[in-house]
Amino acid sequence: MNYATLFSSSKGTCRLPRRVGGGRRKLCVALALSSLFILHSSFATAQTLRPAADFDSLFRRAEAYGEYWDTLNLFAYRGIGISNLPEQVELEVCDSLGLGFRAPTIGKVISRYGIRGRRPHQGTDIKVALGQPVFAAWDGIVRYSRYNSGGFGNLVIIRHANGLETYYAHLSKRAVLVGQRVEAGEVIGLGGRTGRASALHLHFEVRWYDQSFDAERLVDFETGALRTHTFTLSKEYFSSRARAGADELSTTDSVLMAATASASEQTHKNAVVLIPQELENQGVYHTVRSGDTLWSLARKHGTTVAAICDLNNITRNTTLRIGRTLQVK
Ligand SMILES: [Zn+2]
Repeated sequence: MNYATLFSSSKGTCRLPRRVGGGRRKLCVALALSSLFILHSSFATAQTLRPAADFDSLFRRAEAYGEYWDTLNLFAYRGIGISNLPEQVELEVCDSLGLGFRAPTIGKVISRYGIRGRRPHQGTDIKVALGQPVFAAWDGIVRYSRYNSGGFGNLVIIRHANGLETYYAHLSKRAVLVGQRVEAGEVIGLGGRTGRASALHLHFEVRWYDQSFDAERLVDFETGALRTHTFTLSKEYFSSRARAGADELSTTDSVLMAATASASEQTHKNAVVLIPQELENQGVYHTVRSGDTLWSLARKHGTTVAAICDLNNITRNTTLRIGRTLQVK
């Protein structure tokens, strides 16, 4: 069996998996448990790369194969490198009615995927207002929801049934918990500028087996429309130099689907954001200004230098760059 066979998605339907009823889920779990042993023993490398066939199997796999389900680290596919991935894979990114997808936010793109300065920028930055709801792009399961001291600030990562993962960074608040199932369009957090962010924006990434590619290949962030129903993901896209070129982006599809996007907009217009209790005390954040020291911050917020260092994974000797957001409590 070659990769092309393993990775090709089912043809004919263009539907994202939906939740199934509790009864069926129990049956699925029972079947899964009974076949777990067999599955586990035939858990060959190539097969682990196969996108989940449906939503429930996605969840079962996440539970069963913990090695690819990491709720503490950014990357979950340890041991799977770019060389293990196929040259091309077809991914279904919405159903035939244009449902099952919602842009995480609609707005001006202020920084695109690609090389920025000398560093790779692996996501797309979209302008948001403070506290503005940010939506799950597709149905999925929250793999990661924590404050990331590496620069993402409040970060949510959702794994989707088509094998993609989406990253939502710099949130002022996270509204979902690890392991939680979310539907496309559900509020997963609020816009902010936590972490390494000099302005309010959503840093949005799309990854497949931990490899990033330009989200603008899929989404027109200024209209909120998906650019395609079925997306051919090419290995060449996994490079910060592979920014989507204007010539490659189909405008016809965007126009067709913009109407659907604005229709679904209505449904979510009055979205009430319920922050789970576990996330209520998400901490206090401080953006470093000129003259700030760890000692002055500790004094100001009634904490200790050691506690701040712990929260942000820094040491007493770390230089506080102006504009960096630190969690102080
Ligand atoms: Zn960014």
